[in-house]
Amino acid sequence: MTNISKRSFLKFAVASAAAVPAVRAASAAEASGKWDEVTDVLVIGYGGAGAAAAIEAHDAGAKVLIVEKMKNAGGNTRASGGGFIIPKDADQAYEYLEKTFLFADNEMDGSLVREFCKGAVALPQFFKRIAPNAKLRVTGHANYPYLPHADNITKYRVRGKHTGGIDLIETLRTAVEKDRNIPVWLESPALELVRGPNGVAGAVVRHDGKNVRVQARRGVVLACGGYEYDKQSLQNYCLGTNVLGLGNPGNTGDGIRMAASMGARLWHMTSYSCPLGIKIPGCKAAVFVSMQTPNYIMVNQDGKRFCNEAGVDFHGFIYAVNQLDGVKHRYPAIPCYIIMDEVGRLAGRPTHFSYGYAAQIEGYRWSEDSSREIQSGVVKKAETLDDLAKMINVPAENLKAQVARWNADMKKGADTEFGRKLKKTGKTAFVGTEVPTLSAPLSEKGPYYAIQAFPALLNTQGGPKRDAKARVMDVYDRPIPRLFVAGELGSIWGSIYQGSSNVCEALVYGRIAGASAAAEKPAA
Ligand SMILES: Cc1cc2nc3c(=O)[nH]c(=O)nc-3n(C[C@H](O)[C@H](O)[C@H](O)COP(=O)(O)OP(=O)(O)OC[C@H]3O[C@@H](n4cnc5c(N)ncnc54)[C@H](O)[C@@H]3O)c2cc1C
Repeated sequence: MTNISKRSFLKFAVASAAAVPAVRAASAAEASGKWDEVTDVLVIGYGGAGAAAAIEAHDAGAKVLIVEKMKNAGGNTRASGGGFIIPKDADQAYEYLEKTFLFADNEMDGSLVREFCKGAVALPQFFKRIAPNAKLRVTGHANYPYLPHADNITKYRVRGKHTGGIDLIETLRTAVEKDRNIPVWLESPALELVRGPNGVAGAVVRHDGKNVRVQARRGVVLACGGYEYDKQSLQNYCLGTNVLGLGNPGNTGDGIRMAASMGARLWHMTSYSCPLGIKIPGCKAAVFVSMQTPNYIMVNQDGKRFCNEAGVDFHGFIYAVNQLDGVKHRYPAIPCYIIMDEVGRLAGRPTHFSYGYAAQIEGYRWSEDSSREIQSGVVKKAETLDDLAKMINVPAENLKAQVARWNADMKKGADTEFGRKLKKTGKTAFVGTEVPTLSAPLSEKGPYYAIQAFPALLNTQGGPKRDAKARVMDVYDRPIPRLFVAGELGSIWGSIYQGSSNVCEALVYGRIAGASAAAEKPAA
């Protein structure tokens, strides 16, 4: 299975750990100590990728243990929209998806994208096998309909009582816990990996108030998500500043540190799905901006528009606000402000998705007419643009000039600044409730409203590079023995991505990682 000798692995892993001082102190656990628990495959993280890995490893005959840091299973997958693509044809899907890498020139590994396409096409059979009663429903189409073979891409969701990833996670949990009796340790974070003579030998897990040394005789699968809530990682890998999270607060980059401690090569570290979000007092996660009205604009701290608000694919909004002003030393569009009028307020919530950690797990519901948020100060209200500008601390003259220009443009029938469209054209990426808004003038009379918005991560894509068998690669692209990775941790996707492809990837590479780990010869 491995193409690296025992001695060179050890030599290399020690050398690379020494090159990363932050990791060295915490990651030198060796396999010489006594094991407290023995399993074949240890799965770290119980979201979509961890669940799929556990199912495949179990079905291949391995003894499996899942450890999860949080009180509940599900991670970002549970908080998500639960959407995944199922292409009709793997080769055509590949041709479509490879074009998305050209948009941002991120590193692409064609073998991984091909494997993804094959696995994505096979998802209906996977669901038939593990959950014969599960029904899938269509939720959308390709995000980039003008690319070749876009018609090949359809988005699905597991049908159920909820709108998001809860139905998917509950389906997977039934398969893991009820149908297979795979043990799950909740509130049990993996602290560090343990190195052995044949590669990764296990991990130290905090469980029931003790540090438990778990031997993984066949392998360890890292399925512990990204770094959305880790300040150090955000400051080092993420663009912009004050970046919020929309998903699971347990995603704190632990997998990046564990993989790096074994000498892994990191990739896609500055790629993420990151719309705009709104801070809600008392919630750990933000809620994400999804305007339902055309009667709004977005302005920066100078009171000026900075992008085509309705044209940016929401996954990539961070790239529109990430402008560091090197003269004044500030990010003028972080935070930025949504400016709307009374028609806009009454058109519906500025965050109408019913998923996300704040909505699904913390139970936050934005009031239909934003009255609760006006009261709490999340939405600022003023009778005039002068007063609104004062409330949000932007130059009033600029804000008034910007609204006047926008309204004049709307009368002329064209956004002369950023080309925001007036009418919908062609097929949209989403079906159902998620309809992108377009353009309309703001009222000449108040009241006006402003909402402060920040970049807010759905997920990060960075982490250890894998190969098509989901083996973690070292910095010279050699597999690190008995270490596997799946999901958004070291995702195959770059900065601009198709959408509904992270959940799909979690399932596809979770399955591959579980099967690959189970195929290893058990260590003594
Ligand atoms: C609001 C929202 C909507 C989204 N909608 C979609 C969508 O519709 N389609 C799509 O494709 N993508 C979507 N995404 C992104 C997608 O949900 C994730 O990228 C994907 O689910 C990641 O799956 P995962 O299994 O890799 O990670 P997760 O599901 O996040 O699971 C990782 C788990 O590991 C745990 N963990 C972390 N550290 C440790 C540790 N040290 N020890 C043990 N456990 C640990 C975490 O607590 C977590 O439970 C969305 C994300 C959000 C937040």
